[in-house]
Amino acid sequence: MKTTFAKNPFTIFYIVFGYIIVFSVWWAFLLYQKNETAFKERVEINAIYFQSNNPSVTYINSPEYHQLKEKYSRQKTMILLEGTVFIVLLIIGLLVVRRILVKEMQVTELQKNFLLSVSHELKSPLASIKLNLQTLNQRQVEKTISDKLMNNSILDIARLESLIDNILFASKMEATNSFMSKELINISEVTEMLVKKLQVNPKQINISGQIEQNVYLETDPTTFISAINNLLENAIKYSPEKTAITLGLQHTGNAISIKVADQGYGIAEDERERIFDKFYRVGSENTRKSKGTGLGLYIVKRFVDEHQGSINIQHNLPQGSIFTLLIPVEGD
Ligand code: ATP
Ligand code: MG
Repeated sequence: MKTTFAKNPFTIFYIVFGYIIVFSVWWAFLLYQKNETAFKERVEINAIYFQSNNPSVTYINSPEYHQLKEKYSRQKTMILLEGTVFIVLLIIGLLVVRRILVKEMQVTELQKNFLLSVSHELKSPLASIKLNLQTLNQRQVEKTISDKLMNNSILDIARLESLIDNILFASKMEATNSFMSKELINISEVTEMLVKKLQVNPKQINISGQIEQNVYLETDPTTFISAINNLLENAIKYSPEKTAITLGLQHTGNAISIKVADQGYGIAEDERERIFDKFYRVGSENTRKSKGTGLGLYIVKRFVDEHQGSINIQHNLPQGSIFTLLIPVEGD
């Protein structure tokens, strides 16, 4: 019994659900039958009484009988109609409760995964930085090795920084409805700087920018940086080594389009809606090879929503994904 409930926590819900429905239908049926019996008995009694007073007329032709029949039919319709409405409302109510429960369970599951991955994400770069520093401190190491240890530590610190930025951003977005302070910035320069920064990556992925010069956008600089950084980091994280990523930035008509194309593992059609949910990551925690908290695309989506823009995901050929952000701006 315990394992049945553990496997499907809704078992008890379905049992109660089924019981309530069967119980309601049964009561409606009993009421219907009671009405029928009451009518028949009433007809029998009234017929005897009526016949003794009016021997020349048959009771079923009398106005009294028609009145009684009309009342009976009204009650029958009422039972059928109200019974059906009640059962339909009951089913809708129970389905709504079920949906809320499923949503709650999903949020709990996602938060559990989030805590697991955050603790892991914090712990492993710290452990690696500690080890690198201890090695540098304890032994005399060659210049090439010490450079390598230091570079690794810098990458680890960058990872920690972007994780903490994402968490801070996500909580800021939760706390306020409109989190962006707007200022006019040259997003071409900012984007170029981000491409350059991520050029040095452990997977040796080549990132090239096709960036139109001097595109300006009135936006919150830190949110913009975080959104583009998350798109590029994802493109690196979910791609094999030595592949290529292109970032395109263009101002056409009354929209700015930002396109990040990778040659990575791609995203299944049925995952494309959910990957923008807070804490959501594809696959189960055990099978995921890469690390992450599921906050990156949530930040990207919130940034785009704040500009009333849109995000589109397409397959890249022969493999990978293309993320296209469209940010509406006033035409020239
Ligand atoms: P975080 O960005 O918070 O460190 P994350 O990368 O797992 O963690 P998101 O950036 O929100 O979280 O991405 C959600 C999921 O979408 C990822 O777990 C990954 O499975 C999928 N995904 C995102 N970008 C890509 C991509 N370019 N290619 C393939 N899958 C992707
Ligand atoms: Mg990410």
